[in-house]
Amino acid sequence: MSLPIVDDSLPPADTRPHLFGLRAPQLVSVLQALGVDCSEAEARRVLGRVISEGNDELRTMKKPVRTAVRTALDQLLRRDRLPVQERVKDDVDGFEKLLLRLDDGAFVECVKIPLLKKGCFTVCLSSQVGCAMGCVFCATGRLGLTRHLHAWEIVAQLVAVRDSLQSGERITGAVFMGQGEPLHNYDDVIAAARVLSDPTGGRIEAGNISISTVGLVPQMHRFALEGHKFRIVVSLHSAIEAKRKTLVPIAKTWSLTDIAGAIRALHQSSKDRVTVAFCLMSGVNTGDDEVLALQALLPDVPLRINLIDVNDARPVAEGGFAPPSSSELGALLDALQALGQPVVRRYSGGKQKQAACGMLASTQLES
Ligand code: SF4
Repeated sequence: MSLPIVDDSLPPADTRPHLFGLRAPQLVSVLQALGVDCSEAEARRVLGRVISEGNDELRTMKKPVRTAVRTALDQLLRRDRLPVQERVKDDVDGFEKLLLRLDDGAFVECVKIPLLKKGCFTVCLSSQVGCAMGCVFCATGRLGLTRHLHAWEIVAQLVAVRDSLQSGERITGAVFMGQGEPLHNYDDVIAAARVLSDPTGGRIEAGNISISTVGLVPQMHRFALEGHKFRIVVSLHSAIEAKRKTLVPIAKTWSLTDIAGAIRALHQSSKDRVTVAFCLMSGVNTGDDEVLALQALLPDVPLRINLIDVNDARPVAEGGFAPPSSSELGALLDALQALGQPVVRRYSGGKQKQAACGMLASTQLES
């Protein structure tokens, strides 16, 4: 399939504020700045209708807002959805990837992930068009960064996924693990996460929203200081400095010692375990030396260790990495047991449709 990244037949940019990026106090302020008086109760009703219920029709609300507010919303703000350009479902595991078209003609992907609990889903969200981090095992990293997403464009991904739910189904979690390094786009990612967890927004529990980072140390400290209830997942990939530098270019800016300091700050802020993640690559980061290095790096912090296999399907395979063999994995799991920290094997689904971790760039890469 071949898709353009930029469409040269675009209508003029619509710069009106979008409801998807707002919570009630912000909507009141936005309208006030436009000279329209709106109460917070009205703002809550509007956002609950548009974001939580996914219903754009404001005239038929049980308790309507005043005509002046509705007219202002119709004329001065947006509440349109991002068009779904393509939707592909992996029949093996039910993962479904959606390709959304942005106003500027760029595309962004999100994934609907079925959970073990029947009728419950997590949505995997992108935070940027492309990514600047250049991790060597990741297809998105090969694209480079085009731009950050606005908060509303992130929430629009949830809305697009939720539009496809059947009666009785719901989204109970969100992970910022799609295209982009979420903490590189800190303000919009946090704004979007707040909408996702708001009673007038996505209504997802804050503790069920995970934000990954490959190790942007200043932003990790900021997150800890701000005391968010969302969870941070620190993608270490290796606890050995020299090796990490070959896998994750940003490791040349912030050392593992810097990252360990930020992880301590996150633990002190949340009083909870901090999740560290490893994308497992055969012969690269599966040996005992990794376990010993992790123990030496963070002996004093309760961790949760997430392990996910690198993808061996195109286009990730072009990076030359393979997932660990079962004996390699067994030995690693045995060694990790000695740490006494919980280890979670994460399933990387959606491979058949290039919806799995590290594959969210396939469409553009193949164009
Ligand atoms: S793994 Fe994440 S941070 Fe690294 S290049 Fe891919 S999208 Fe960016």
